Amino acid sequence: ILCENLADPIEITRIAGRVEAAISAPIWWLGQSLNVTASVGIAFGSGVRSAEELIRHADTAMYQAKQLGKDRYEVFDDDMRIRSTSRVRVEQDLRTAIDNGQIEVHYQPIFALPERRIVSVEALARLRLPDGNQLMPEAFIPVAEDTGMIVALGTSVLRSACQQLSRWRSQLAPDLQLAVNLSARQAARPDLCAVVHAALTDAGLPAVALALELTESVLLEAARSTLGKLGELRQTGVDIGIDDFGTGYASLRSLRELPVTFLKVDRSFVAGMTEHPQDAVIVRTVIRLAADLGLGCVVEGIETTAQLGGITGSGARAQGYLLGRPMTAEHFTELLQEQQQR
Ligand code: C2E
Ligand code: MG
Ligand code: MG
Repeated sequence: ILCENLADPIEITRIAGRVEAAISAPIWWLGQSLNVTASVGIAFGSGVRSAEELIRHADTAMYQAKQLGKDRYEVFDDDMRIRSTSRVRVEQDLRTAIDNGQIEVHYQPIFALPERRIVSVEALARLRLPDGNQLMPEAFIPVAEDTGMIVALGTSVLRSACQQLSRWRSQLAPDLQLAVNLSARQAARPDLCAVVHAALTDAGLPAVALALELTESVLLEAARSTLGKLGELRQTGVDIGIDDFGTGYASLRSLRELPVTFLKVDRSFVAGMTEHPQDAVIVRTVIRLAADLGLGCVVEGIETTAQLGGITGSGARAQGYLLGRPMTAEHFTELLQEQQQR
């Protein structure tokens, strides 16, 4: 909405308020009231050089409104200007990397205890910048999600990690499993099963070689059709896990109803294990709960020997900097070679 000739800039907030009110009026559909809310971004034209720039500023403010809880308006300001220039750059770098097949994948080992044998490996995306620096997921995954590029990015990670796993399984570790993170948008796609099976088939892998990790909130907000697809994948042998377990709102009932095969205890509980006895109790209890429900369990974020000691003997698998950081495929190959020699 282009608002010209405003008597007073403050008038724009009243217009935004009217837009929100109009949109939030309930819509009656088959006897039910449906409610829609709007996130509004506002940008002023002064100092702006082009229509595109103005729209981009409004867009940035709109994303800010979404991030602050939706159903509100935000005005583009200098803080956003600084963040949006870096955001625009990340978006461009991301698009180039995806188009050129240059999304890098790092690999972090997951161990069976107490023998510390590598049984699985998590694929973690990295974005290499033109200047050679590397961006971590927290800097580009949110951008990828907002722009929809997460679908192409996720497929690229899935496919190249499957190819890599296939080499490791044939040369060094025949039973090694791969864990790949799946975002909400990917999971909601109607072609999810086809994409996953194509990645497996093209790499010559059986379905049991793959685990998909989804966060609690993604699983809880997933539509019935998405859960159906995940259930279908699980039927074919693909493991499905809840990532960052304990940080969302999964009820105990949902553990019974979601199509999952393993839980991944969030590292925030692990971090507190040695100082706060309650955290240690939570970690041990989740491990027991998983075992009693017939689910697998991975504890992530193991950084100290005390934390490792706290879960050894529990049957859970361990992942963390103490045992192995995310590393390049070459380094992971060396790690597997060392394990084989031992
Ligand atoms: P996640 O799936 O929970 O991955 C584990 C994160 O914890 C990784 O961060 C890993 O480096 C970090 N980590 C592992 N051990 C330790 C430890 O001992 N201490 C600490 N402090 N951290 C540890 P990373 O690589 O920065 O990834 C962050 C998140 O980005 C991931 O969390 C995942 O949600 C997301 N992500 C990464 N790659 C992809 C991807 O290909 N697709 C999607 N959809 N999300 C991804
Ligand atoms: Mg994960
Ligand atoms: Mg996690």
